Amino acid sequence: MKSYEEQRVPSAPAPSFREQGDVPAMSVTVRVPAKVNVQLTVGGARPDGFHELANVFLAVDLFDEITVSSAEELRITCSGRDAAEVPLDHTNLAARAARVLAERHGLTSNVHVHIAKDIPVTGGMAGGSADGAGALVACDALWGTQASRRQLLDICAELGSDVSFSLVGGAALGIGRGERLTELEVGGRFHWVFAMAGRGLSTPAVFKEFDRLNEGVRIPEPVASQDLLDALAKGDAKALAAAVCNDLQPAALSLFPELARTLAAGKAAGALAGLVSGSGPTIAFLARDAADAKEIAEALSASGTCRSVRTAVSPAVGAVVL
Ligand code: ATP
Repeated sequence: MKSYEEQRVPSAPAPSFREQGDVPAMSVTVRVPAKVNVQLTVGGARPDGFHELANVFLAVDLFDEITVSSAEELRITCSGRDAAEVPLDHTNLAARAARVLAERHGLTSNVHVHIAKDIPVTGGMAGGSADGAGALVACDALWGTQASRRQLLDICAELGSDVSFSLVGGAALGIGRGERLTELEVGGRFHWVFAMAGRGLSTPAVFKEFDRLNEGVRIPEPVASQDLLDALAKGDAKALAAAVCNDLQPAALSLFPELARTLAAGKAAGALAGLVSGSGPTIAFLARDAADAKEIAEALSASGTCRSVRTAVSPAVGAVVL
């Protein structure tokens, strides 16, 4: 395992306009992946209200694309199936990312950010975080600010717990609120089926329910599962299936009991494992291979227990300038 601080650049270097011969880029597009948490172990609530986590992230090849171009003022637009659910005001993580980067470099954040959204919204797959990381890398390239990896990761941690991982992609262990990352080795490809639900679940609401369900319970300090890290390193889907865990799953199921039917349908269709992705309500099923994933996806679609179904492969790379 190596620390991201020791590495020089994100997964793909952002070509700044200086490298393109001092001609300012008109627009920059960055692709950013969704994530699934193969381990989400939750510790007790801290005085600041956040929980200590041992969080194993795996990036999957469902992507949002963020395109930035110069504009009169900061403006966000969004396209895609879930576009209507995405806030287009200053609360959008992409807008916040642009603003923070501009402030750090004494610039104005006059930029049009377009989000081509393919990651489900409020699905527990870090779609908003992906857009924050994508906008950060895109604005850095557009403005030629050439922020170091350290500076980009600092801004990511300020924006939210999952934003740093969206930037780096691959697989990582996140501790603290999940934002202190260590890269993990992955020895093969994992095939996933994601079942999207008809409505979202708010992450704070799920943590609140976790607190309610665990009232009076002494919660041990969260640690990464060695069996799970070994399974990832070996690329062993069966071993990974035996080790996946999500402490938020009971809380998500308590708030959204219908998810139990989706879990049962995927398991009946032959999934090696099924678990709530992050705070849910998307359910992630691990398949043996691509053919198995296709079969499980078809069975889930026919089951009527979810809104839509997608297959995906992990690990996927982090934010990449296209
Ligand atoms: P996570 O897995 O990180 O907990 P999530 O996948 O469950 O997040 P998101 O799609 O990231 O959920 O959305 C969470 C909330 O963030 C939404 O309710 C929305 O109001 C807000 N939000 C801010 N920026 C964005 C964005 N660019 N895309 C989607 N939601 C955003």
